[in-house]
Amino acid sequence: MRVLLVEDDAMIGEAVCVALKDAAYAVDWVRRGDEAAEALRYGEHQAVLLDLGLPGRDGLELLAGLRQEGISVPVIIITARDGLNERIQGLDSGADDYLVKPFEIDELLARLRAVIRRQGGQASGLIGNGRITLDPATHTAFCGESREVLSSREFAVLHALLLQPGRILSRSALEERVYGWDEEVESNAIDYLIHQLRRKLGAASIKNIRGAGWMVEKQQ
Ligand code: CA
Repeated sequence: MRVLLVEDDAMIGEAVCVALKDAAYAVDWVRRGDEAAEALRYGEHQAVLLDLGLPGRDGLELLAGLRQEGISVPVIIITARDGLNERIQGLDSGADDYLVKPFEIDELLARLRAVIRRQGGQASGLIGNGRITLDPATHTAFCGESREVLSSREFAVLHALLLQPGRILSRSALEERVYGWDEEVESNAIDYLIHQLRRKLGAASIKNIRGAGWMVEKQQ
């Protein structure tokens, strides 16, 4: 999962980035409102963490603009503005959630998991396709008799596939979800991660569609 962090405070930005990376998210961090609007044009992110007081363009104005353009990416506002009217205005401008600073990182991560799984149409905390079940809170995958704790990257690949069972994701689509802008990606990195996942969960867990990419089957 790839997240855009929009935050001009260096200390908070750094702390959130580290926590997100530890939790297996690919993170792109921008510090200005106008940079965020540009970054979101390409639809590469599965969620946005948005500060409101930003240079370049105010967060609320940015958010309202995104929604007007029909960009539906989940947005969690993270701000020190804690008034009732501000919270209401934030949600009414199109935010999916609103978290007041200072917040606990664990709560931010839980809210992020919630908005991402709702976007995937899943209400329960677990995601799966009937064959494989994945617990995003613990990075544990269940498949038949096996129960495997996945590495951050393995988790990110399997999570991307399970959010869209039956859909083929190409190498570049998976790279986009697993790595941020500032990360070097080796050419065979995704193949290696798929290989590891198959070793742990069984060869049939992920299908290789030659020349196109990989998918998990959609089961009834
Ligand atoms: Ca700020």
